[in-house]
Amino acid sequence: MAAGASAAAVDVRNLTQVFDDPVVGSKVTALTRISFQVQEGEFVSLLGPSGCGKSTLLNLIAGFLEPTSGSVLVYGKAVRGPGPERGVCFQEPALFPWLRVMDNVLFGPQAQGRSTRTTEALELLRRVGLQEFENHYPHQLSGGMKQRVAIARLLINDPQILLMDEPFGALDALTRLQIQEYLLTIHQEFRKTVVFVTHDIDEAVYTSDRILVMSARPGRIEREITVAEARPRRREFLTTQAFLDYKKQALAVLWGDKSAMPAA
Ligand code: ADP
Ligand code: MG
Repeated sequence: MAAGASAAAVDVRNLTQVFDDPVVGSKVTALTRISFQVQEGEFVSLLGPSGCGKSTLLNLIAGFLEPTSGSVLVYGKAVRGPGPERGVCFQEPALFPWLRVMDNVLFGPQAQGRSTRTTEALELLRRVGLQEFENHYPHQLSGGMKQRVAIARLLINDPQILLMDEPFGALDALTRLQIQEYLLTIHQEFRKTVVFVTHDIDEAVYTSDRILVMSARPGRIEREITVAEARPRRREFLTTQAFLDYKKQALAVLWGDKSAMPAA
């Protein structure tokens, strides 16, 4: 497909990733023949157990890794490395401890010699509920607040696609729920495309339009689950029968219980 408005935001084509394992002295097939597309504005989760290749897949989309075979296209163009249209966020927020919250958020634009965008940074901090904290240092913040600073820092560069690798994995359940809500609001109001790695089934069902359920050794996409729940998503969704049904579908795939899955 030629580059253009009609191209998918992310198009993963027959991706296989093989690593050398220096410990065992052999090769590890981390991913095998992975293909999927993410459309502009979609929220897609990669859900699977530890070691199934989620981070590898996200790093390939981010352009941090070169595929062994296959390709990744972003808006119809082959990925050759990282790019400004893709913003990446990891489990550890990795803020600069010697910089105040505001300067952490402004670090990217300043490093690129762009003018100081304090008003914009303040607005983003407000959007993640940190309007009172711009002069605090990271060590004065809770884990959830740090991750919200990391999200504001990501958004100030205005990437169209957010690539997030278990960003809330280290947070307690209630903090996680709150920050998921911030992310859902941002996804909707800023019209971002999100590729979200998680091993948390509830998180995947609550946030996603589609869940790609993966299995390990070698990593592959076992099943795609479409979560046909309207947006904005409400907390009440978490306790509905529909939510439980989606969760059951995902669990059946993860447990390898083929009989419990609906027909493909
Ligand atoms: P996940 O994020 O789902 O936990 P990863 O993508 O981190 O899984 O890893 C998938 C598999 O690939 C694992 O078996 C892991 O040991 C292996 N792997 C990942 N990165 C490397 C690497 N740089 N070198 C060797 N093996 C790797
Ligand atoms: Mg990982």
